[in-house]
Amino acid sequence: MMAIERLTILGSTGSIGVQTLDIVRRHPERFKISSLVAHSRWRELAAQAREFGVESVVIGDESHYAELKEALKDTTIEVMAGNEAINHVARSYRSDTVVNALVGYAGLHPTALAIESGKRIALANKETLVVGGDIIMAEARRKGVDIMPIDSEHSAIMQCLEGEQRRSIRNLIITCSGGALRDTARENLANVTPEMALRHPQWSMGAKITIDSATLVNKGFEVIEARWLFDIEPERIKVVIHPQSIVHSMVEFTDGSVKAQLGNADMHTPISYALLYPERAAEAMEHFSILDYPTLTFAAPDREKYPALDIAYECLHRGGTAACTMNGANEVAVASFLGHKCGYLDIVGAIRYALDNASFTKHPTLADYDLANREARMLAERYLTQKR
Ligand code: NDP
Ligand code: MG
Repeated sequence: MMAIERLTILGSTGSIGVQTLDIVRRHPERFKISSLVAHSRWRELAAQAREFGVESVVIGDESHYAELKEALKDTTIEVMAGNEAINHVARSYRSDTVVNALVGYAGLHPTALAIESGKRIALANKETLVVGGDIIMAEARRKGVDIMPIDSEHSAIMQCLEGEQRRSIRNLIITCSGGALRDTARENLANVTPEMALRHPQWSMGAKITIDSATLVNKGFEVIEARWLFDIEPERIKVVIHPQSIVHSMVEFTDGSVKAQLGNADMHTPISYALLYPERAAEAMEHFSILDYPTLTFAAPDREKYPALDIAYECLHRGGTAACTMNGANEVAVASFLGHKCGYLDIVGAIRYALDNASFTKHPTLADYDLANREARMLAERYLTQKR
């Protein structure tokens, strides 16, 4: 009989957060939730808190504190608000594992604090590793903390690497659906609206990552994430377009053998793998049949249509704060695009502008990342204002 594992879920109201709760619901003997964290959706948060009988909840946006407090006033659940409270629950002794499903830079410090206090991490917030992968992984190694990827590609690679020796790895091959604009010609990209870019062909996800999937910023981020998670040189991380999203990624070994991990495009599988490892869920959400997919295709990405991919490799080669700058500028530009305040091509434009104008720190600390993030956001705002 395994001891009950106490979870803190950061971002419980989001796409990954809600699916994480589905997995927890199926394993009441295995997990107990200590804390839930959301940003604005306080009603959903209150309902989740009641259902799972948590000890505490945090609402990131402090303007919803009073409403949340009122909604839970007949319970003993502790109600907190703001970033300091998020940091507090990330490092609280009341949990064993932190599931980080926050979106964006906001995930970095909570991950770092959870590692510092020796917690196991189930990581959906890839921005943590994009921004600070070298520091975060070094800290995790020092603390003996496991970082379990939730991102489907990295979960696939991890599964392919089970039982293998490091020196046998030749290449990691990350698959990419191609996103919502896969079939849009390059000359039509200037007219792409948020509604068009949000129509992802395979995956249903939060708005920011869906736009990142359309620009391939997401795939660039996944290359950076893989570089740190698996400690492998960028040259040995390849990206292939695979429109069916059935092969979630592959590993090529030195003897010419290639392992792939396949399954439905359903995040419940990598979430449950991260939570239950080394066990597997006894029952799938939805069973997979290879006969439903008689044709699986693969192609090289169009690097001119998707400049973000090469920009991500460029950031890896520059190291230091470069990827943090890319991430910060992207966050601002995606929010602006989603608000119909800039065009689709301005997203990569803002990233390029920020990278070309930002200051650069070769060996940053976490505090340096805060500065680089702020500067990147400011530069992206300036670029987008000039374009208007
Ligand atoms: P969503 O936008 O659906 O959810 C984000 C969650 O974080 C919500 O609970 C939101 O709260 C909360 N949140 C947002 N901003 C802040 C903030 N500033 N401070 C605290 N909390 C905040 O995102 P996803 O679930 O799609 O993605 C989460 C992470 O997982 C991202 O890093 C993404 O790249 C990664 N990922 C997602 C996949 C997916 O299938 N969705 C697949 C692979 C990776 P509220 O809603 O209450 O405002
Ligand atoms: Mg992914």
